[in-house]
Amino acid sequence: MMNQENEVIVELLIDVLGHEKQHYESKGQISFDCPVCALEKGVEVDGKGNLEVNYFRGVYKCWACAETHGTQGPVGKLLDQFGTKQQKKTYELIRPPEEKERQKPKIKLRLPEGFMKFEDSNIRFIPHREAINYLYSRGITDEIIKKYDIGYTVTGDYAYRIIVPSYDNNGELNYFIGRAWTNKKMKYKNPATPKDEIIFNESRVDWTKDVYLCEGVFDAFFLPNPIPMLGKMLSDNLFNTLYEKVEGYIHICLDGDAWENALRVYHNLNGGRLYNKIKILKLPKDKDVCDLRGNIEEYYYEIK
Ligand SMILES: [Zn+2]
Repeated sequence: MMNQENEVIVELLIDVLGHEKQHYESKGQISFDCPVCALEKGVEVDGKGNLEVNYFRGVYKCWACAETHGTQGPVGKLLDQFGTKQQKKTYELIRPPEEKERQKPKIKLRLPEGFMKFEDSNIRFIPHREAINYLYSRGITDEIIKKYDIGYTVTGDYAYRIIVPSYDNNGELNYFIGRAWTNKKMKYKNPATPKDEIIFNESRVDWTKDVYLCEGVFDAFFLPNPIPMLGKMLSDNLFNTLYEKVEGYIHICLDGDAWENALRVYHNLNGGRLYNKIKILKLPKDKDVCDLRGNIEEYYYEIK
């Protein structure tokens, strides 16, 4: 038998998401049609029940669109998006303790073991030369390297990766990117911090000016006042921050192969106080801002 709190959670989930597809009470697992992607192709829901909630652990994930739409995380986020304020409040009162646990202040993020800024490292050290030659090959200059405190490490979990740190508004490290300069299976290795909870180098953003949204950190190096989304999706956190803070225009500069994503970001943002303040670029199919070294002027696209 389910305890009373779990019964209330299940009822709440059904109120918000409709009829459940599968329900394993012993595991606290229940599935629904995904409110993000099940409807995308038409009016009928697809009936696949791809959205899985584990109410013991207080988490959810859509097996079809978590990667592309960020449809995963604490159940509280799901209710923020699709529930009412009252439903969220109810959930807050009864949610499982694990989630409360996870929302405690996190352990301070540190730069990876062995991190060394290029400016503090010796050019005669072979890995230094390999790493910096990789950066040069992608058009990244000494000036950019210095400006963004870029470094590298040859030890620990991030060995043989270029490290680009990110700092929040208080100047605290909130993330970093680890980009392999050798042929590794995983090109990128990043910290466990969920990337939708941070804004990369928020400390550097001037909210009074135009802001440039791009996918990756390497694109950001070539843009004035950039925010790399660290993917093709606009997180709720970034959406809310942009909505509250941007005073200039927002320029959407996603990779050429992500036109559909770019349009989604455009339509997401182009409303309310941001209406008519969004610009969008359509880059050549196989190019990103870094490939073009930031020469993107000719690719602005007018949405009618
Ligand atoms: Zn989905």
